[in-house]
Amino acid sequence: MEVKPSDAQQRVAGLTASAAAKVLRIQVPSIWFFYRRRYEKLMGFTTDEGICIAADINHMDTARAVLHEMRHAWQRQSPEWRYRSQTLRERDAILFELGWPR
Ligand SMILES: [Zn+2]
Repeated sequence: MEVKPSDAQQRVAGLTASAAAKVLRIQVPSIWFFYRRRYEKLMGFTTDEGICIAADINHMDTARAVLHEMRHAWQRQSPEWRYRSQTLRERDAILFELGWPR
């Protein structure tokens, strides 16, 4: 179910996605939000349609989740990365989220 997060969270997500898109040289994807069930840890996921971010997380986690999912969005468009293992793709997304490699 799609939900509407706060305007501030939408701005944080939008600005972070725009900056990451420039760095990654991809289009800014559609961004939408979901509510997590209790005990659910997932903060975001990526599909061919865009990225989806948890609506109940703080702004810092929103920025990190967007960076992480933007890297996955980039991987999907990369002939080199698209078919690499889940483990490698996940590690690469975490490194991007943490700001490395620069
Ligand atoms: Zn991931």
